This record gives sequence, C-alpha cells and structure tokens, in this order.
Amino acid sequence: MVSKRNRVFVELGIDGRAIRIYRHHSCLPLSEPIIEWSRQKAVSDIREQVFERADGQCERCARPINSQTAHLHEVRPRGQGGEVSVANGQALCPKCHLGKAGVHADHYPQFGLKKE
Ligand SMILES: [Zn+2]
Ligand SMILES: [Zn+2]
Repeated sequence: MVSKRNRVFVELGIDGRAIRIYRHHSCLPLSEPIIEWSRQKAVSDIREQVFERADGQCERCARPINSQTAHLHEVRPRGQGGEVSVANGQALCPKCHLGKAGVHADHYPQFGLKKE
C-alpha cells in the first residue's frame, strides 16, 4: 500500500500510461479517465514519454541527448500553475536547460541557488 502522501490523481493516455498529474482534487475534470496512483510511478511514466518524444534529440536545439544526459524541464513552472505532464515537459540538453543561453538564463541566472 502506497502511503497517502505519495498518491496522486493521474490522467491516463490511450495506452494506459500516466500523462498528467493533478495537484488538487478540485481540479479533476469529469470527462477524463482519472485514477489514483503512486506519484513515483506517474512521474517516471511521464518522464519516459517526454524522453521518447524527444527521440534522442534536445527538444530545443536538437543536440543528441540520452537518458543520462537529458534534463527534464517544465515549460510552465509549477509555481505558475504548471503541471507535471507530458505536454508541460521538455527534454533538454544541459546547455539548453542550465547554460548561459538556456531556458532558465533570464529568470534563474544562478540556477540552484535560492531566489531572493
Ligand atoms: Zn539543447
Ligand atoms: Zn527547467
């Protein structure tokens, strides 16, 4: 049995894999197939599908990436209402993610350090 805090509501894609995690019970749409699932399993399902979609290339610059080098980026940050989902995920090379010209360069000039 998964403990309650590690369970999430998950939307499933047509192949039965998790494609979106809902943060709040109140956000759940009535029309989609939603199940309660282990958070860990849902997150890894979503990550896998983002990497599969990238097909070995950074989704920003097309440099080669693999499961060891790729970074999973959230296009819309969670703090701004973004969700953990295949649609909101992007597989990026480290340069595009954390580099000087990367996606976080504007808003997180010192990524990894606490924001003021
Ligand atoms: Zn890149
Ligand atoms: Zn990111």
